[in-house]
Amino acid sequence: MYELSDADRGYRERARALADELIPWEQEAEAAGGRLPPEVDDELRHRCEDLRLRATNMPVALGGQGATMLQQALVQEQAGRVTNALGWIMTTPPGWWVPVATPEQVERWLRPTVAGAREECYAITEEQAGSDVAALTATARRDGDGYVLDGVKWHVTSFNHADYAFFQAVLQGGPAAGRHALFVVDLPSEGVSVVRTPAYSHTIAHEHPIVAFHHVRVPESHRVGDEGDGMTYAYDWFRFERFMVAARCVGAADRLLDEATAFARERVAGGRPIIEHQLVGAMLADSAAELFAARAMLYEAARGVDQGRDPKVQHAQASMIKLYCSEMAGRAADRAAQVFGGRGYMRDNVAERFSREVRVERIWEGTSEIQRLIVAQQLAKRGPASLV
Ligand SMILES: Cc1cc2nc3c(=O)[nH]c(=O)nc-3n(C[C@H](O)[C@H](O)[C@H](O)COP(=O)(O)OP(=O)(O)OC[C@H]3O[C@@H](n4cnc5c(N)ncnc54)[C@H](O)[C@@H]3O)c2cc1C
Repeated sequence: MYELSDADRGYRERARALADELIPWEQEAEAAGGRLPPEVDDELRHRCEDLRLRATNMPVALGGQGATMLQQALVQEQAGRVTNALGWIMTTPPGWWVPVATPEQVERWLRPTVAGAREECYAITEEQAGSDVAALTATARRDGDGYVLDGVKWHVTSFNHADYAFFQAVLQGGPAAGRHALFVVDLPSEGVSVVRTPAYSHTIAHEHPIVAFHHVRVPESHRVGDEGDGMTYAYDWFRFERFMVAARCVGAADRLLDEATAFARERVAGGRPIIEHQLVGAMLADSAAELFAARAMLYEAARGVDQGRDPKVQHAQASMIKLYCSEMAGRAADRAAQVFGGRGYMRDNVAERFSREVRVERIWEGTSEIQRLIVAQQLAKRGPASLV
């Protein structure tokens, strides 16, 4: 099914094997704030490396796997089968950076990130600027041979693990004044401090604190690309991440359908397995049909990237798969929790955990509303024929 090559199936099977090793740790992670004992975490990371599942999106020349977009989606689909973000050990470092990184940036940040020795986080969103990235107020002011950065960033995912942050800011002064630039800030750095670490619905080891950057000095060599290009990289990152979100949502729905079907075959109520009660069977049938549709569209969109489809079409299709797969995973989690009955509301149940975890997939990397706007804009410009 889905016409996968031997190499594609190899990626999928290796990733599935790792996901199956991660799944037994979910409940322990749930009980411990998303964290695993350090020796277990280490061992699983080594497994991930041995299975060649880290940095699938990065070029071989930098130590990555050089996988196709379809293969990356196959790997992230398996990562998505696991709750508590344990699958995030199948990392996808900042591939968008490769074309514009200076040799110094490659050696200092990119190559060690691919090798798993460094970790990045993204400081873009602000209290008054989320969907509307153009409304950012953080600033970058030229100062001698560098810049001074100021701003308060929200939801900085993985800040507690990261040892550098991408910081997006509005340039003050100079020929590109008013436009955005992206900077790399090493962590810790003087002037960077956590304002607050709010609790979120999911239970994962990666925190999302509010972080203040106060008069943080960086040399010019910490700027990514040219002055004024900051927004381009943010959009490149979003586009890529929309594929990865879609893939993980397909994986989540796959696991939910497996587990809920197994339960419904075994659980007896009214003298027969509940799957034979048509109202329960119908919930599973809806999830199966939507999963089939989501997976088919994910693979087709990924193949489009591999075949060099028009970037505008890729952009719209990334939005369509992110929109559909994230909303589909939400419905699948809700139905699975219903099929499990009271058990579906207990934290040691997979459907309960996914019900909380997949909710954010409709929010981050562009909300469902923003995806719809992108698709509608492309429909207005090109008509439906090139997009669907
Ligand atoms: C757990 C988590 C982790 C995150 N990690 C990161 C991170 O690592 N780095 C980072 O920079 N950001 C991160 N974010 C931020 C995330 O990308 C934003 O929350 C998201 O883009 C939405 O922005 P907002 O929260 O400001 O909502 P808003 O933009 O204020 O939107 C509020 C509501 O209005 C709707 N809306 C907004 N504009 C429009 C419009 N033009 N048309 C129709 N409806 C609209 C939205 O769809 C939404 O329903 C994270 C968020 C969460 C929850």
